[in-house]
Amino acid sequence: MTKSMWNKSGARLPVRRRDVLRGAAAIGAASLLRPIPGAYAAAPGEGYAKLPARGEFLIRNAYVLTMDDKLGDLPNGDIHVRNGAIVAVGTALKAPGAKIIDGKTMIALPGLVETHWHMWGTAASNTAGDDPKMGYFSFAKAVGAIFKPEDNARGVRLAIAEAINSGLTTVHNWSHNLVTPEYADAELQAHRAMGGRALFGYGYFGIGMQNQAVRVSDLGRVNERWIKPSEGMLTLGVCSRGPENNDMDMVRMEWEAARKLGLRVSTHTGTSLARVKDRQTIKKLNEAGLLGPDVILVHDTNIVDNDNELLAKTKTEISLSPFTELRTGFGITPVGAFTKAGVPLSLSVDTTVLAGNCDMFAIMKALLNIADGEAQSEFAMPARRALEMATMGGARALGIADRVGSLTPGKRADIILIRTTDLNMAPFTDPVHMVIQSTNPSNVDTVVIDGRIMKSGGKLVGIDVARIVRDAADTAKRVRAEAERVNRG
Ligand SMILES: [Zn+2]
Repeated sequence: MTKSMWNKSGARLPVRRRDVLRGAAAIGAASLLRPIPGAYAAAPGEGYAKLPARGEFLIRNAYVLTMDDKLGDLPNGDIHVRNGAIVAVGTALKAPGAKIIDGKTMIALPGLVETHWHMWGTAASNTAGDDPKMGYFSFAKAVGAIFKPEDNARGVRLAIAEAINSGLTTVHNWSHNLVTPEYADAELQAHRAMGGRALFGYGYFGIGMQNQAVRVSDLGRVNERWIKPSEGMLTLGVCSRGPENNDMDMVRMEWEAARKLGLRVSTHTGTSLARVKDRQTIKKLNEAGLLGPDVILVHDTNIVDNDNELLAKTKTEISLSPFTELRTGFGITPVGAFTKAGVPLSLSVDTTVLAGNCDMFAIMKALLNIADGEAQSEFAMPARRALEMATMGGARALGIADRVGSLTPGKRADIILIRTTDLNMAPFTDPVHMVIQSTNPSNVDTVVIDGRIMKSGGKLVGIDVARIVRDAADTAKRVRAEAERVNRG
C-alpha cells in the first residue's frame, strides 16, 4: 500500500505502510502513557534555565481549591510535597523536617493546563497586521518558511518561560512548523532545557498547504530520543491537517499511526461555516471511526447538523481558544452549545501572534463572559466550570489526568499559589470568582512543577529571562522584515 505526501518543494514523496509500522514498533504504546517519576535534568551547557532540585516542603494554611471532587475546597489547607509527588492534602498536616511555605493569604490551585498552542510562533508574537497581506495566515506562512530550527526553539523557550510565569504548568505544543526532523529536535531540546510539562504534538509544516501528511515515520525516533528520557514530563501526540485539508486516506493513515502507538491526535476544524458544510468534517471523521476520547479537535466554532451529538457520544475533546477565535473571525466561541450537548471541553492559547500572551486567567474569564453573553443570562456558566476546563479538563484532554489536573495525593506536584492581597485581588471574598475574574499572571506568587519550585515570591527561579527575550527579539526583527518583503512583493 503506497500513499504519498509532499516535501517542502511540493514534490510528492512516497509514504510506505511499512514506514508507519516501523515507527509504531519502535515505540510501544504502554510506555508512553505510564507516569514515571524521577529526575529530569536539563541538557548540560544549555544555559537558558537551571532546573531547581526537588525537595520536601509543606504549603501551610492556603485556601486550597483541590479540583478533586472528593477533597473539595480547604479554606485552611496544607499540601505536603516530597520528591515531586503530592504526599498529602489536608488540614494541620504534620511533616517533620519539611520546608514550610506560608500559604496564608494565598489561593492554592493545581497548575493550569492548556491544550493547543503553536509555540514556535511566540518568537513572532503580535506580528499579524491589519490587512490581508499581513494577516495571520499569509504572514505565518511566510514566517514559517523563514524560520530555522533555532528560531522555532527560541519561540518555544519564550513560550515556556511565559507559561511558567503565568501559572501554566502543562502545555500542548501543537507543533506545525516542522520543516525537517531537526525542527522537532530543536523544539524538544527547548522543552527539556526549560522544564514544564508538555504534550508535544508532532505536526506538519507550511500553513495553508493541502494534502501533506505528518512525517509519522519519525515518531519512533522522537520517542526514543526525547519522550522516554523525559520521565513523564513529555508525552507525544500527532497534529494532523485533518479532513479540511487532507484527503481521507491520508487522514486515516495519520490516525492509524497515532492510535497504534497510543498517541493523541489533534486537528483544526470548523473555522468557517462554508468549509464545514463543504467538507462535513465531524460527519466524515465519525463515519471513518476516527472520533473518540483520544482526539482533540480545535475550535469547531461552526456547528452544523448533529455534530455535537456525535462529539458527545464519542467523548471527543474540543479545545477552545476564545481570544484567537474572536480575533480571526472564526466566530463567537459556541461554548453554550457544547456545554448543553455534553461535549468535553478544555482551553487553549492557540498562538500569541494573535492572542498576544498566554494568560489563562484571561482565557477563563473570556469564556465565562462569552457563555453568559451568548445565553443572555448572568447564570449560564458557573465560574468553577471555567476553572475545571483549565485544570482537570485540560489534563483529561491530554491523557494525563491520572498524573496532574487536581491536588490529589499520589499525583505529581504541579501547584500554583495566587496572592490575594494585591490591589486587583483584594478584598478576599469568593476564591473561585477571584481566580476567574480578578487574577492575572502578576498575582501568581509560586509555581511548582513536578515538585520543583519554578517561581517563588513572584519571580522565576533559574530561568535566564533576559537571554530568552533577547534571542526572541533577534528572531522577530529578522523574520518580520523578511516576511514583509515576501508578502508585499
Ligand atoms: Zn491552532
